[in-house]
Amino acid sequence: MPYLYRCRQCRAESPVEHPDRADAEAEQEHHRDTIHGGLAPLGGDGVHRVHAQARGARILPRHSFAAALVMLALILANCWGR
Ligand SMILES: [Zn+2]
Repeated sequence: MPYLYRCRQCRAESPVEHPDRADAEAEQEHHRDTIHGGLAPLGGDGVHRVHAQARGARILPRHSFAAALVMLALILANCWGR
């Protein structure tokens, strides 16, 4: 089960899911050090376990999903042209 780090104060989230909780916690530490001067953000932050389905269609990588939509649009446009 993947993990994400979220900082509510910055309204920011890990750009990638971490397979291990320790990796997400390392990102949390790095974020606190670089953005918040080593302090815990007042708005709150934390490491959360996420389900693959919770973040949308993770069956396909993000760009593949967009490419599939473009292909579908092209196929439909081609059909309407006839
Ligand atoms: Zn932050």
